Amino acid sequence: MQALAPYAAKEETSRGRVYTESAPNYRGQYQRDRDRIIHSAAFRRLEYKTQVFVNHEGDMFRTRLTHSIEVAQIGRTIARALNLNEDLTEAICLAHDLGHTPFGHAGQDRLNMCMKDYGGFEHNLQSLRVVEVLEEKYAEFPGLNLMYETREGILKHCSRSKAAELGELGRRFLEGGQSGLEAQVANMADEIAYNNHDVDDGLRAGLISMEQLTACRLFDTQHRSVVDKWPELTEKTMTHETIRRMINYLVSDLVNTSRKNIDIHKPEKIEMVRSLNVPLISFSDEVHELQVELKRFLSVNLYQHGRVKQMTDQAKEIIQTLFDSYMNDASLLPPDTRLRSARDHENSGTSGRARVVADYIAGMTDRFAIAEYERVKKI
Ligand code: MG
Repeated sequence: MQALAPYAAKEETSRGRVYTESAPNYRGQYQRDRDRIIHSAAFRRLEYKTQVFVNHEGDMFRTRLTHSIEVAQIGRTIARALNLNEDLTEAICLAHDLGHTPFGHAGQDRLNMCMKDYGGFEHNLQSLRVVEVLEEKYAEFPGLNLMYETREGILKHCSRSKAAELGELGRRFLEGGQSGLEAQVANMADEIAYNNHDVDDGLRAGLISMEQLTACRLFDTQHRSVVDKWPELTEKTMTHETIRRMINYLVSDLVNTSRKNIDIHKPEKIEMVRSLNVPLISFSDEVHELQVELKRFLSVNLYQHGRVKQMTDQAKEIIQTLFDSYMNDASLLPPDTRLRSARDHENSGTSGRARVVADYIAGMTDRFAIAEYERVKKI
């Protein structure tokens, strides 16, 4: 194994776990984190949660599970190139979307609206809540008892009001400062993954076309290089060859630019990375601009496409109905959730109960939410 850079996260200097545990026999501490994430129920449910397209629209589209695996693949490549902690990067990447609601962003936005009088709903915070509280499987501690750096990476963003409640973990959102570089890598790997696979899925679904995409310089340049070399390719191969080049181009720029940033700031350890007011993992200005252009294109032509919007409108209706139904009639909840909602209502009133309902809804897969919607509507 190659030596880690001085500014990488290391087990020896980690802020550790909340509940002390003996060291694993055959794995590193961050490998153990990754393994706990893979064995969690929330991770398995990612298979049936929407990324952009509802899972049952077709077997070829990304789900949140395959998205997370692609993020981990890209993240590991970047981490290894920069001599960062690859195991930690992988753990963060695999866990980054654990708190996502069914039906993608539409689901999260609506759940946030439902919760507006009860503290709101933020998916990054929910991912942290999944690994800290909601996974109940270990005898000796709640949640997965992950290392500090893994939890730091999972909490990508959070509002200032929530950050204040999080103690050490929320401090960077209040005082400025950064997460460790592995978390920064995971964040950028997420962006690279979804921009590229959404192009692929959008083309496959026929919602966007190659001709339209040539308006994006990032796509156009790579597409031209493929056409010049192999003018006779089928559209399927052409698409894949273009996208793999786009990913390679973005990863290469990110690695080179980040190396330069690291050279300028010369952080000697992770604490120095955390105290900076800029992230060190970044694209060059020029490539950042190309990324923004592609994002804007996808936002207008794909995420707001009539067919996607139809799905998101349905999603809002489903989430709202489920929330209202469970809040009005706790007997609709499964027994353990009902007990918890009664207990939390006693402890913290309606907000406590609403949080239990939000946790329950957020944990649902798309198809389970649809089935529940049908069931509660009949009652
Ligand atoms: Mg993601």
